[in-house]
Amino acid sequence: MRETFDGGCACGAVRFRLTSRPMFTHCCHCLDCQKQTGGAFAINALYETDRIDLLSGAPIVIDMPSPSGRGHEIHRCGHCQVALWSNYGRRSYLRFVRVATLDTPHAIAPDAHIFTRSKVPWVRLRDGQRAFDVFYDMKAEWPPESLARRAAASAVA
Ligand SMILES: [Zn+2]
Ligand SMILES: [Zn+2]
Repeated sequence: MRETFDGGCACGAVRFRLTSRPMFTHCCHCLDCQKQTGGAFAINALYETDRIDLLSGAPIVIDMPSPSGRGHEIHRCGHCQVALWSNYGRRSYLRFVRVATLDTPHAIAPDAHIFTRSKVPWVRLRDGQRAFDVFYDMKAEWPPESLARRAAASAVA
């Protein structure tokens, strides 16, 4: 049995289940995440789209400007507007799930901190925590089984 994680929006209209652990999890300190969350960072768990089971509700899709120009959609509850996950770069097979929407929001910890060049100065990272000014080399940082999962998902997309 694979470990699963249930989550949902604030009003309860959207409920979902993640059917395994994530491939990799970012704590993103970029200024866009700070603006969009109203907080110091966003915690995004990377999942194959087909490992998100929608149990109730239907998220609405909001197009966001993206500095890369490759597109960013945020999938939100249509009622309370809480952000559930993102599609960065218009990749149908890949979702960035907001870890804070899980019923057990502390069950998934970040594997890497990214965009620490814009980290708020009063957030201190643990010694030995993997942290990157901007981004990282996926082949160097991801576990082999996660690279294999991502390759398998992108192959059928
Ligand atoms: Zn809601
Ligand atoms: Zn970010």
